[in-house]
Amino acid sequence: MKQVIVIGGGIGGAATALALDRAGFEPVVYERTQTLREVGAGVALWANATHIMKQLDLLDAAIQVGYLTTNYQFLSQKGRELVNIAVDGFELPVVAIHRAELHQLLWRNVPSEKFYLGETFEHFERQGDRLNAYFRSGLQVEGDALIGADGLRSRVRSALLGDVPPTYRNFKTWRGLTNHVPDAYRQGYIHEFLGGGKGFGYMMLGKGKMYWYAAVTAPESQPDATIGRQKELEQIFQDWFPAIPELIMATDETHILTTDLYDRPPAKPWSQGNVTILGDAAHPMLPTMGQGACTALEDAYVITKCLKENPDPIAAFQHYEALRFPRTKAIVEQSLQSGKMGKLKNPLAVGLRNTFMKVMSSAMSNSFHALHAYRA
Ligand SMILES: Cc1cc2nc3c(=O)[nH]c(=O)nc-3n(C[C@H](O)[C@H](O)[C@H](O)COP(=O)(O)OP(=O)(O)OC[C@H]3O[C@@H](n4cnc5c(N)ncnc54)[C@H](O)[C@@H]3O)c2cc1C
Repeated sequence: MKQVIVIGGGIGGAATALALDRAGFEPVVYERTQTLREVGAGVALWANATHIMKQLDLLDAAIQVGYLTTNYQFLSQKGRELVNIAVDGFELPVVAIHRAELHQLLWRNVPSEKFYLGETFEHFERQGDRLNAYFRSGLQVEGDALIGADGLRSRVRSALLGDVPPTYRNFKTWRGLTNHVPDAYRQGYIHEFLGGGKGFGYMMLGKGKMYWYAAVTAPESQPDATIGRQKELEQIFQDWFPAIPELIMATDETHILTTDLYDRPPAKPWSQGNVTILGDAAHPMLPTMGQGACTALEDAYVITKCLKENPDPIAAFQHYEALRFPRTKAIVEQSLQSGKMGKLKNPLAVGLRNTFMKVMSSAMSNSFHALHAYRA
C-alpha cells in the first residue's frame, strides 16, 4: 500500500500530504482552486496542535512567524473580566498564527509534484484492491487509498454518508486583520467579549498583525448591509469596549471577510474500505472552541500513524476512525454548547450567563485544559 489520493489542499489535506510523504508513502493532493491559498484570518494552535507541529518538525518555524499566547480571557461587552484562563501551562507553547503562514509552512515541505491544482474531484470507483478517482477536467487517477480532506461540503463524505447538507447554526461571522494594536491589548492575551447574541474577540498574530473576529446571530446567507461591512460592524459594536470599534475602524474593508457558521451532528462511518475522510469533511464544528484546524492537524498525524502501523488501508482507516471519532464528537458537541451560550439575547439571560461563567471559571479552565492536554 503506497499511493494515497488526497482530495482537498486546505490545512487538513496539506498536513496529511506532509505527514504521509515524511512516512514514505506517495500522497498526491488534488485541489479544486488554481492556487494554494488560505483566507486572511488567524488561528490559535493550542498545545494539542503544537504537539502535531512538533511531530512534523515545524514547531520552531511556526513560533518564528507566529505569536506566543498565554491567556484566553472572556469579558462582558463593556470589558468586565468574566473568566481568565491560563493556556500556557503545558510542555508546549500556544501559537497564534496567520492561516496563510500555517498553510505555507505545511506546503513548502511537500514536493511540488505531490499536488495538482485546479482539479475538482467528482467520484471514485473501486477496482479490486485499488480505486480510480475521477475529476471534472476528465482526469482519472489510480491509487491504493483515498482520503477526503475536502471540507464542509465534502463530496467524498457524500459518497460515504449520503448527500446531507450541513446544519446552519444561526451565526454570521466577520474576520479581519489590521496592523493597529489597541492600547488596551494585553501582551499574550486572546480577549473575547460576550454580549447578547453577539461576540467579538481579538488576538495578536506574528509580524505585528492583530486578528479579530465577530459573530452575530443572523439568518442564513444574510447579505452585507448596503453601508458596507466596516460601517455595519461599527454600528453593531459602537457601544462595546472601546478597543473593538477602534479595531474595526482600523481595518481596511477589503480585509474583512464574512462566513456563515455550520456544523454537522457527528455521524459514522467515516471510512468505507480504502476510503476515508478527515478535518471538516469528517467533523465540521463551530469555531467556539477554536479546534477545527487543530483537530484536522491531529487527524493528519493519526491517519499516517495508523497507515504506518498497518499496511492494509482498510484496517488502518478503521483504526483511525476508532481513535478519532470519540474525541472529535465530544469537541463538535462542546463547540455547539458554547455557541448556544453565545446566542442568548435577553439581557436577564445574558446577565445570568455572565454570572454563571464567573462562578464556573475553574470548570471552564479545566475543560479547556483537558482539550489541550490531548496528545495524538
Ligand atoms: C469563522 C471561523 C473561525 C475559525 N476559527 C478557527 C480557530 O480559531 N481555530 C481552529 O482550529 N479552527 C478554526 N476554524 C475552523 C477551521 O477553519 C477549519 O476547521 C479548517 O480550516 C478545516 O480544514 P480542512 O482542511 O478540513 O477543510 P478546508 O479548509 O475547508 O479545506 C478543504 C479544501 O478542499 C478543497 N475542495 C473542496 N471540494 C473539493 C473537490 N470536490 N475537489 C478538490 N478539492 C476540493 C477546497 O477548495 C479546500 O481547499 C474556524 C472556522 C471559521 C468558519
